[in-house]
Amino acid sequence: LVLENEFLTKIISQLEEQVNIDSLTKVFNRRYFDASLESEIKRAERYKYPLSLLLLDIDHFKKINDTYGHLSGDLVLKELAGLLREKTRGTDILCRYGGEEFAVILLHTDEKGAYVAAECIRKAVEEVKIEDITLKITVSIGIASLKASLSKEELIARADKALYQAKESGRNRVGYEEKQNSSS
Ligand code: GH3
Ligand code: MG
Ligand code: MG
Repeated sequence: LVLENEFLTKIISQLEEQVNIDSLTKVFNRRYFDASLESEIKRAERYKYPLSLLLLDIDHFKKINDTYGHLSGDLVLKELAGLLREKTRGTDILCRYGGEEFAVILLHTDEKGAYVAAECIRKAVEEVKIEDITLKITVSIGIASLKASLSKEELIARADKALYQAKESGRNRVGYEEKQNSSS
């Protein structure tokens, strides 16, 4: 009976992992992102520490697929996920948000800190070499930081707007809220 329980415990923890991890890139999936952003916002509000969100979208990714094929596109996603893991802290929550989009929840990080982190990621991606892909791989990043009583949806919408601005102003850049306000 004890052995059976150990077996079940192991199976359950393996299943839990599979439910929360993206199978291609091995980072957290959208499901985990949604749940943890919700609870981390509550925690940050309660204990009054800053929290920021990065939304990152690969620039012209369709062109990478079209030029090198879908399998190479998959490889780029895997390699970039590995690079993001390297460039983020152990306490940051790194997720695949959608197809070629990643999200990073930065705990105890205000907008300034998030900007430094985003620039570090953007520069690292710009310099990455992946097998025989000669097209330059770049990312655009949108930042939003927690302000008094922002919901999860509002925070995502702000980061998304900042990402859109980064795309609009030429890609391979970081967009943030101050920039949104000053330019509109
Ligand atoms: P932009 O700079 O505006 O972001 O351009 P884009 O080409 O990156 O954006 P678009 O949304 O037009 O294309 C995203 C592409 O990502 C289309 C889709 O086929 C590809 N994609 C999404 N998920 C995967 C995946 O798991 N593997 C591969 N290889 N491609 C994927
Ligand atoms: Mg996209
Ligand atoms: Mg894209």
